[in-house]
Amino acid sequence: PYHGPSADEVLTKRKKYLGPSLFYYYQKPLNIVEGKMQYLFDDTGRRYLDAFAGIVTVSCGHCHPQILNAITEQNKLLQHATTIYLHHAIADFAEALAQKMPGNLKVVYFVNSGSEANELAMMMARLYTGNLGMISLRNAYHGGSSSTIGLTALNTWKYPIPEGEIHHVMNPDPYRGIFGPDAKSYAKDVQDHIDYGTSGRVAGFIAETIQGVGGAVELAPGYLNLVYDIVRKSGGVCIADEVQTGFGRTGSHYWGFETQGVIPDIVTMAKGIGNGLPLGAVVTTPEIASVMNQKIQFNTFGGNPVCSAGGLAVLRVLDQEKRQAHCAEVGSHMLERLRSLMQKHEIIGDVRGRGLMVGVELVTDRKEKTPAKSETAVLFEKLRELGVLVGKGGLHGNVFRIKPPMCFTKDDADFVVDALDYAISKL
Ligand code: PMP
Repeated sequence: PYHGPSADEVLTKRKKYLGPSLFYYYQKPLNIVEGKMQYLFDDTGRRYLDAFAGIVTVSCGHCHPQILNAITEQNKLLQHATTIYLHHAIADFAEALAQKMPGNLKVVYFVNSGSEANELAMMMARLYTGNLGMISLRNAYHGGSSSTIGLTALNTWKYPIPEGEIHHVMNPDPYRGIFGPDAKSYAKDVQDHIDYGTSGRVAGFIAETIQGVGGAVELAPGYLNLVYDIVRKSGGVCIADEVQTGFGRTGSHYWGFETQGVIPDIVTMAKGIGNGLPLGAVVTTPEIASVMNQKIQFNTFGGNPVCSAGGLAVLRVLDQEKRQAHCAEVGSHMLERLRSLMQKHEIIGDVRGRGLMVGVELVTDRKEKTPAKSETAVLFEKLRELGVLVGKGGLHGNVFRIKPPMCFTKDDADFVVDALDYAISKL
């Protein structure tokens, strides 16, 4: 049993010593003290089914034994020395990651977070093209650091600071977007931004293939193909942010961008790559990477032995346990069940996603698509009471994000759907 500080004690200390911008889930925040695969345990020993995976980060499962073992063994030998010396772990991990990439995406940089990965990607795009302008989608989240905050396009996260030349184009959102699923019209908006809002030349375009923080919004089919063309014709490079969608989570493909049939010039990753370790990566082509040669590019912890050993173990576990196929199977079962729940409950305006990257958008009026903000908040608390932890997203916080560890089973998915069904019927 747990003998540490209570939730109240932790909260008091947090408020006293940590920044006031920190937020937490639930009116009475959970004091989580242990994790095991798809379960989390609070200080009273209560078990929760984790359908949010520490914000889509715990890919293989909490404290997965094989990954734990890899980290522990490496910790005993050597924790840190930096890349000024040789160590096999970073090289082995880079090789394994490069082998997962299509096309000529063969050069790997390791960093410590998603924001850092996108910072580096943006810097490379600008250096390589000699242009400054970046294009990102409205409703995107690409980080909270001072320059990635410019790419992020949700007012909830934006501090008013200078952003540089960043253009936020229309979000190709099949549910809320004014053009529905018509990729061509949204792509025209990108061309318009370039024609009217820039010199005609841009540094790059960045997008998640299924927006995470934005509420599991899957881009209109065919969109990336059209936009990559437009951007490349204007001298820019195309960046795929795979921080949430990568590593087989979408089920049908290992990388989110593959669902749109494109190959980016730069791919950024974090979260799931480390199953909870602070780890991020940027993968690009030798040609783009060569532009970084003009100076030294260094990152003290990037690819450190412990993170690399853990990251390599993650890649192996995902393959050995056939997690991509598993995500496809469990994900389509859950989507099917959620779609039939939609017939029953008027409040469910949209069910969307792929694999174990699922969104359920709640509205008070299906025609007007009015966000059911307060109802979502009530259901969110109710789900917690029932022992189910989901995420919340979208600009109005009216989308449930169901993105569990990939070891989630069909029974787990049924439990989530049944709990949601029950909670809604008690509204
Ligand atoms: N990109 C995406 C798609 C993300 O979801 C996030 C984090 N929510 C980031 C980038 C930033 O990652 P980090 O918080 O590790 O900096």
